[in-house]
Amino acid sequence: MTSPGTTFELAQRPSDPAERRRALFPEATDAQWGDWRWQMRHAVHDAAGLSTRVPLTLDEQAGLDETAKLFRVGISPYYLTLIDPAHPLCPVRMQSIPVRAEARVRPGELADPLGEDPHRPVEAIVHKYPDRVLFLATDTCSVYCRHCTRRRITRGGEAELTRTAHEQGIAYIRAHPEVRDVLISGGDPLLLSDERLEQLLAPLRAIPHVELIRIGTRMPVTLPMRVTEALAKVLRRHAPLFVVTHFNHPKEITPEARAACERLVDAGVPVENQTVLMRRLNSDARIIKELNHACLRMRVRPYYLHQMDVAEGCEHLRTPLATGLQILEQLRGWTSGLAVPHLAVDLPGGGGKVTLQPDYVVERGEGETVLRSFRGERYTYPEPEVTDCACPYDSVWTSRSQR
Ligand code: SF4
Repeated sequence: MTSPGTTFELAQRPSDPAERRRALFPEATDAQWGDWRWQMRHAVHDAAGLSTRVPLTLDEQAGLDETAKLFRVGISPYYLTLIDPAHPLCPVRMQSIPVRAEARVRPGELADPLGEDPHRPVEAIVHKYPDRVLFLATDTCSVYCRHCTRRRITRGGEAELTRTAHEQGIAYIRAHPEVRDVLISGGDPLLLSDERLEQLLAPLRAIPHVELIRIGTRMPVTLPMRVTEALAKVLRRHAPLFVVTHFNHPKEITPEARAACERLVDAGVPVENQTVLMRRLNSDARIIKELNHACLRMRVRPYYLHQMDVAEGCEHLRTPLATGLQILEQLRGWTSGLAVPHLAVDLPGGGGKVTLQPDYVVERGEGETVLRSFRGERYTYPEPEVTDCACPYDSVWTSRSQR
C-alpha cells in the first residue's frame, strides 16, 4: 500500500513510544515528562514543529497549509510519541495531523452540526435537552482532534469563556430548577487548574437541584499526566461526578493512560468512554472489541460508539451508518454486554441523539413475536395474555414528595 507523497517504507510493526520519546525529546527528564504543564509548554503547534518530528506526507503538508486558518493544530509531546512515523494511517496520526480533505466543506456539513448555538442563553451554556445542560468551560485542548465536532469553538476566537462567562453559566443553572445534570466540556475542562476547577465545581455542587455532574475530557488519552492524585481528589469531592473520556483506538491505551483512568476510579470517580467511529481508523469490529475490552480491564465502561457528526471538514473520516450497525452486530452476543456500547447518532442540525441497533425482530404475530438470536436462529417469544402495564403503587410512592 502507498500513500500520496509517502517516500518512506510503510511500517510493519507499530513504533515504540519509549523509543520515540528518546528520539524526539532526549532532553526531557522523567519529572518534566510527567508534568502536564511541561507537556503543554512543549506541545507542537505548527507544520514547522511537526515536520522535524514526523516525516510528513504531501497530503499532510497540504493539509497543514490549507487548514492553517480553519482549525488549530496542537499535539502534546506524549501524544506525539504515539504517532507512528512510518505509517500515514496510524490512528493517532489520523486524529492529530490534518490532511487536505479537511479543508473542504462537503454538502450537508455544518459549522454547528448539533444545532447548539440557538440554545445558548448565555455564552457558557447550551440548554437543548429538558433536564440537562452543556457547560462550555474553555475553548482550548491538549490535542486538537481532526474530528472535533465543536471546532467552531475549539478553533478559538468564537467565545470568551472567562470567569465572568463561568459565573453567568452558574447563575443560569441556579435559576433553572429543571436542570439536574450538568456536562462540563468545551474544549477540555481539565486544562483548567485544580483551583479553577474547584471554583467551578463547588458552586455547581452547592445548587440543590444539580444531581449529577459530568466532565467530558480527552486528558486520560492525550495528556494522562494531567490526572494527578490532587485532581482526582478535587473531582471526588464533588460526587456524584462522572468523567466521560474519549479513547478511539486501543493504541491509545498505554500504561500512562491506564494509570490515569485507574487513579480516577480508585479515588471514586467513575469513568466512561465515548468512541467516535472513524473510517479507516477504527471502523472495524475487531478494533472496537479490542478497544472496549481494554477499557473494561482498566475499569472504564464503554458507553457510546458515536456515528461521526456532520462537522465541516470531517467527511473523509465519516463511515456509512451501516458500518456502525455491522460492528454492533459483530459484538452483540459475541462478547460481554458491558463491552457493547450504544451506537449513537446526533441528528444533524439539533434533533438530539438517537441510538441505533440491528433489528432482531423477524415477525410480529398475534400473541407472539419471532426474534433472531445473535447467531441468526429464530426464537418465538410468547406475549402475555394480560397487557395492562400501569403501576398502581406509583401514586402511593410519588405521594412521599407531597408530605
Ligand atoms: S479534545 Fe474534545 S473538544 Fe478538544 S479538539 Fe478533541 S474532540 Fe474537540
